[in-house]
Amino acid sequence: MAFDFDLLVLGAGSGGVAASRRAALHGARVAIVEGSRVGGTCVIRGCVPKKLLMYAAQLGEGFAQARGYGFELGDTRFEMPRWAASKAAEIDRLEGIYRKMLAGSKVELIEGWARIAGPNTVQVGERRITARHLLVATGSAPVKDSIPGIEHCATSDDLLDLQTLPEELAILGGGFIAVEFASMLARLGPKVTLYYRDRLPLRGFDEMLRTGAAAALQAAGVELHPGVIPQRVQRTDAGLVLVLGEDRIRSFPWVLNATGRRPNTQGLGLETLAIAPDAKGAIVVNDDHDTTAPQVYAIGDVTNRINLTPVAIAQGRALADRLFGAGARRMNWAQVASAVFMMPPIGTVGPSEAQALAAGHRLKVFETDFRPMKQAFINGSERTHMKLLVDADNDRVLAVHMLGADAPEIVQSLAVALTAGATKADFDNTVAMHPTAAEEFVLLREVTREVSPDAGHEDRSRA
Ligand code: NDP
Repeated sequence: MAFDFDLLVLGAGSGGVAASRRAALHGARVAIVEGSRVGGTCVIRGCVPKKLLMYAAQLGEGFAQARGYGFELGDTRFEMPRWAASKAAEIDRLEGIYRKMLAGSKVELIEGWARIAGPNTVQVGERRITARHLLVATGSAPVKDSIPGIEHCATSDDLLDLQTLPEELAILGGGFIAVEFASMLARLGPKVTLYYRDRLPLRGFDEMLRTGAAAALQAAGVELHPGVIPQRVQRTDAGLVLVLGEDRIRSFPWVLNATGRRPNTQGLGLETLAIAPDAKGAIVVNDDHDTTAPQVYAIGDVTNRINLTPVAIAQGRALADRLFGAGARRMNWAQVASAVFMMPPIGTVGPSEAQALAAGHRLKVFETDFRPMKQAFINGSERTHMKLLVDADNDRVLAVHMLGADAPEIVQSLAVALTAGATKADFDNTVAMHPTAAEEFVLLREVTREVSPDAGHEDRSRA
């Protein structure tokens, strides 16, 4: 059978665009379908605008610190409408670049919502398109049913499109989005209250990072409510009411729903190919991104594995190489570094201490905690926390965790060393760069504690 295309990609987010361009580079005839803006969550309503808001919050903090560094400043205040206009222009610019990149790669952009209509066939509006291979890269969207009434709350999409900030707001959830926005918004004006159901934010992260994150949020003035999540949310004329218990309610003019995201599989017509999403709505794939239907693949958030932009991009490129290039290529997912862009930020690669122990490693744990030079000079309270997890049996560095200024930049570089199999001796043999915070990672000489899975507790502690 002759197909219109060799590859048809559903969704022009980071993963879909990367896969389509790589496939085209290998000579495939490729089209990509997008019903919203080109660039997807990361570029249009996620990582990029979020980081632009973080830069605003950092500048605000810089003004507050400037006096300690000898500056005399006039009145400064954050004007959201100006930020919003500049942000909109920047996102338009980036979307334009994405569109140009697709055109430059000879990938046909088909605008509209795609629905799989049968084997090798997709319907977009009136147009029926056939392709030898179909790739689903439709991403994820905020959940709107985690708590009764939560559909009344705003999502991160809405937040990033606000023209003015409320004076007071609540955030529900304790994951990436909750923590990042609580941290930034508290520095841009609003009084922020954070509700999350665990004892600390950022479940799954190393305990040092979780504790440090809670302390940093509190220091920024965020009101923390661990172990508390509303039973339901009600909308009134004055705003939103959080029903926290029998006689406990709190009202806020604005509430952010940061209780997670769900794969975008609804309405895709997956049932026509007998592809059944799992309990969380994700498409189940194997390590080569194959779904249960022949010649249908899925990558990125829609598969709900490691939901990070660079992972979706790497998956898309690996798939395109397998289908149209040099052949099968598997990624190493064990050493994926990630960041939480709170203030100060988190950078992390490798398992948490608890996860490493659960995996059976005997550990040497190296930890340090200090007030960085920039803070000490102005008598600031912000601290930097660092941790190395070393396999006690072979000296391999298993994980690097950091909360502190520039942590994502530092940990991204150290992730190369971990991918290359660096040992603690390699860290020790690396000459420090002074004065930096990063140098502390190569100057950690004293073991903080040794722990083993069977003991499940500390073997030896530093006095
Ligand atoms: P996360 O999965 O990180 O966090 C979801 C939060 O919602 C958790 O604290 C969870 O609590 C809570 N939650 C879930 N269901 C309920 C419920 N029914 N009632 C109360 N609380 C609930 O999701 P996010 O939406 O923050 O982010 C989505 C994904 O996007 C992330 O996992 C990440 O992969 C990606 N992302 C990455 C960023 C980055 O790289 N810097 C930034 C933003 C997002 P609990 O922990 O108790 O389950």
